[in-house]
Amino acid sequence: MKNQRFDALNIMHSRKPVAVSEVASKKSEIFGKDVFTLAQMKRYLSKSVYESVVEAIEHGRRIDRSIADQVAEGMKVWAMERGATHYTHWFQPLNDSTAEKHDAFLNPDLDGESFEYFSGNLLSQQEPDASSFPSGGLRNTFEARGYSAWDPSSPAFIIDGTLCIPSIFVSYTGEALDFKTPLLKSMAALDKAAVDVCQLFDKDVTKVFPTLGWEQEYFLVDEALYNARPDLIQTGRTLMGHTAAKDQQLEDHYWGAIPQRVEAFMKDFEDAAYRLGIPVKTRHNEVAPNQFECAPQFEEVNIAVDHNLLLMSVMRNIATKHHLKVLFHEKPFAGINGSGKHCNWSMATDNGQNLLAPGRTPKSNIQFLAFFVCTLKAASDYGSLIMASIASETNSHRLGGNEAPPAIMSVFTGATLNRMLDSIEARINDKKLTPDEKTEIKLDIGKIPEILLDNTDRNRTSPFAFTGNRFEFRATGSSCNCSMPMIVLNTAVAEELTQFNESVAELVEKGVKKDEAILQVIRQFIIASKNIRFEGNGYSEEWIAEASKRGLRSANNVTEAFKEYLRPESVALFKKFKVLNEVELNARYEIKNETFLKKVQIESRIAADMAANHIIPTAIRYQNVLIENIKGINEVFPSQLEALAKDEIETLKEIISHVNAIRSASAVMVETRHKLNRNPDIPERAKGYEKDVRAKMSEMREHIDALEMIIDDELWPLPKYRELLATL
Ligand code: ADP
Ligand code: MG
Repeated sequence: MKNQRFDALNIMHSRKPVAVSEVASKKSEIFGKDVFTLAQMKRYLSKSVYESVVEAIEHGRRIDRSIADQVAEGMKVWAMERGATHYTHWFQPLNDSTAEKHDAFLNPDLDGESFEYFSGNLLSQQEPDASSFPSGGLRNTFEARGYSAWDPSSPAFIIDGTLCIPSIFVSYTGEALDFKTPLLKSMAALDKAAVDVCQLFDKDVTKVFPTLGWEQEYFLVDEALYNARPDLIQTGRTLMGHTAAKDQQLEDHYWGAIPQRVEAFMKDFEDAAYRLGIPVKTRHNEVAPNQFECAPQFEEVNIAVDHNLLLMSVMRNIATKHHLKVLFHEKPFAGINGSGKHCNWSMATDNGQNLLAPGRTPKSNIQFLAFFVCTLKAASDYGSLIMASIASETNSHRLGGNEAPPAIMSVFTGATLNRMLDSIEARINDKKLTPDEKTEIKLDIGKIPEILLDNTDRNRTSPFAFTGNRFEFRATGSSCNCSMPMIVLNTAVAEELTQFNESVAELVEKGVKKDEAILQVIRQFIIASKNIRFEGNGYSEEWIAEASKRGLRSANNVTEAFKEYLRPESVALFKKFKVLNEVELNARYEIKNETFLKKVQIESRIAADMAANHIIPTAIRYQNVLIENIKGINEVFPSQLEALAKDEIETLKEIISHVNAIRSASAVMVETRHKLNRNPDIPERAKGYEKDVRAKMSEMREHIDALEMIIDDELWPLPKYRELLATL
């Protein structure tokens, strides 16, 4: 009999290593080759057009139509010289992927002549038929028009002969249908608020931008094994599969030697990334078998997000060439580590300062403290909103379970900085400080860089950890578009910085000296954000109890977490900075619920299919083997069946009972789905899917995994965990 699992294993074992395409030894020679960088613009645009573009990028201004025409012409010439035949607006609909619709430059005219055409209009704005992107009710299909508009702050690039123009995507009525639009708005909000605070210390600063360095984790599996698993193909994760006897217990994979086949894949996608100007730097094995990580040099947030999405798609493509599949799902395999995408976040100024890095003088350290406590307070005031921003169906399999930070927000500052905050809190007070007290405090603050230098303590259990010169938000899932957590973080910190600035101004108005006012407000912020600081084990039961004592809100489940979007505080925050209006937030809430329920629905269908079409027939086949065997024993030893075939009969009974349990759980699951689907309220429906449909799926899985342990290995049709996770 044909067994697709063995066919797949045979294919995998006969693989020959795939050669790396063209390894450039000097990466700087290929870096950014396929990007319309400022340097390229300078060559392809006239001086005045180039200057207008730079000016528009720096100040977020609109680009004039006449100038757009000239940019389009330059871009077209540049792209065609590099073999491009098509162009597309490249944007980020609300579904964690990117969208593109290619149009040819070629333009045949009526006389049968043809020429290549691209204009400022086509560059600036396009009108994709957008009826099939998630809109959360913002756009009915009869009014399906959506506009994509060029984002000049992220450079155009060429992939496979197509010029891709990073764009925003909005509805006919102007609401954002994407991640980039509110991201750019949140960056503008942060810029304004942060420059105002910088001005208290340094008049030279005129622009502040958030920076992001993501760390992308992923799994690799052989293509043939992947193709033999309908669950992996359709849902990105295994819905069944018994744990392998050996997986990550020996901790021998983390930072281990990278297998040859994987290294070839890495070299290949890294070169592709370099050509696209993505500054990937770090590669290593992760904790789980066949889990890896890739991290770039940090960049301005908008570019970093574009680069992350671009890299994910490049990795998918290159993997195919190496007969591999890359899994970005947060939890492809139960029982071993899942994948995250840590977001390292900070703020930088146009004169080269990292605002979350302590400086060399007491003054620059007070500036550092100001930005530091504003971020702390943002985490304290908007912690559950930050957590909601990364809550998703796929990420929910990973969060909480002793491997990734739990759903409760807390901040780890490190013991030394923690003590420093306590001492500032204790020593500054609302009374006027004596000159001696002031000097002493400033001297103390001046010591921050020294203490951070030897501050090697790291806390892996904290969702939001300060790591010396940036915050690391660890709860983000590996498949996530980082925009949403960045939008929330930028906007929340913008709010705190605005408050900081206003509080200082109020005190100064009352006659308090500026430097003392700053210290007093820092102290107020330390006190106000105290409840969010936690240095202990974020995975422990004690922390859950402690957090509830502190009154920190945390959602018990995913669909509940989504509700943070609707809280009046969240609505007010986004409205104040014009990042998202209430209609747009509602739409996002709706989309989050809808996506959640669709994903569970798909999983539930596949699980039922696989049970009926793969598992139960296999179980019955093995039942028949056992029945034949029992019959045979009975024939040979007619009077001794009980004694000789006892185990055989028990096993047979066990299989029958598992099969029955799978059948009945599946039937109840399908019935539950049908009942829930009649509920027109999407969030309510999602809640039911989370609770009831998932419960039945895990019940089925238990019995299926038990069968995998009983049934003859020769018959089992699905690649097993030990095979999927064997060294590539
Ligand atoms: P670790 O695994 O110890 O967290 P990595 O080297 O894997 O460290 O990742 C660190 C990430 O932090 C890199 O992507 C790096 O670019 C980023 N990073 C460093 N400084 C900053 C900063 N100022 N702003 C944003 N990201 C930063
Ligand atoms: Mg990290």
